[in-house]
Amino acid sequence: MAPGPRPEAPPAPVARDAGAAPMLPELYRVLRRRRETADTWTLALAPAAAGAPTAAFRPGQFTMLSAFGAGESAISISGDPTKPGPLVQTIRVVGATTRALCATRPGGFVGVRGPYGAGWPVETAEGADVVIVAGGIGLAPLRPAIHHVLAHRARYGRVALLVGGRSPDLILYPKELERWRRRGIEVGLTVDTSDQSWSGRVGVVTSLIPGAGFDPASAVALTCGPEVMMRFVARALQERGLPASRLHVSLERSMHCGIGHCGHCQLGPTLVCRDGPVYPWSFAEPWLRVREL
Ligand SMILES: Cc1cc2nc3c(=O)[nH]c(=O)nc-3n(C[C@H](O)[C@H](O)[C@H](O)COP(=O)(O)OP(=O)(O)OC[C@H]3O[C@@H](n4cnc5c(N)ncnc54)[C@H](O)[C@@H]3O)c2cc1C
Repeated sequence: MAPGPRPEAPPAPVARDAGAAPMLPELYRVLRRRRETADTWTLALAPAAAGAPTAAFRPGQFTMLSAFGAGESAISISGDPTKPGPLVQTIRVVGATTRALCATRPGGFVGVRGPYGAGWPVETAEGADVVIVAGGIGLAPLRPAIHHVLAHRARYGRVALLVGGRSPDLILYPKELERWRRRGIEVGLTVDTSDQSWSGRVGVVTSLIPGAGFDPASAVALTCGPEVMMRFVARALQERGLPASRLHVSLERSMHCGIGHCGHCQLGPTLVCRDGPVYPWSFAEPWLRVREL
């Protein structure tokens, strides 16, 4: 067997006390690292301490992930919540922390706090059609909800997954999209721009909404992507008759502590790290309209 990467020596353990514990990351080892697109990687992580359990999570939750010497970032969990296994997180490089996280090779270490936050309302959606709308990296926080729905397929009606990307090479998890289609999910895919190698649809993700198979009178919608995209998705879904209370969005806010102490991620009366990041659009929309909030 080819030798694997040589594990780095783990950093010295930090003494824990009950008061400081929520802010102290657990040491996790990178087991695998997969390149998804030019600037996006998926890491599979396991606790460094032998025999320590990987944190269980609900679809839509996130962790505070730290790259030592670089910083700490809120990153959604993108793995399968229905199966035991490593903690899976998909990260797009936008600055120093995400660059360092994505550069951590198998055998290297990162810090993990969490999981935190409230997740997608997958239980309340039972019995209804589900429409999932993802833009770019927004598919990563939605992937656990898709896994949940597939693992409990009989509990849901029709499931439509509508994915938009800036270009074909930026679409996340293309092989899984095919597998999900074969397992009974309607998968719609569109890109903003493409070259001749792309035979699929070109246009914004909202253009998929009028033709998608779901009953707006009872469906539940989950969406994640750039805020401007979610606004247009909300408008298109409401035009089809889906009320804002049954559309759920995952919001990104500047997040520091992740546990409701520092107030950086305040949105009106709530803290996104503690009460979100998933909110009904009927709650989020009026607050997002307030400039500078
Ligand atoms: C709940 C939550 C879940 C997230 N899930 C993921 C995920 O699954 N994968 C992923 O790649 N990223 C995710 N993010 C975004 C991620 O936290 C930021 O991209 C990261 O913190 C940037 O850190 P940095 O040091 O690399 O870049 P910085 O130097 O801090 O920032 C680089 C640029 O990104 C912008 N930025 C930084 N943080 C945010 C933020 N929270 N929201 C919007 N813009 C930001 C900055 O304004 C700046 O323009 C999530 C954020 C939140 C709040």
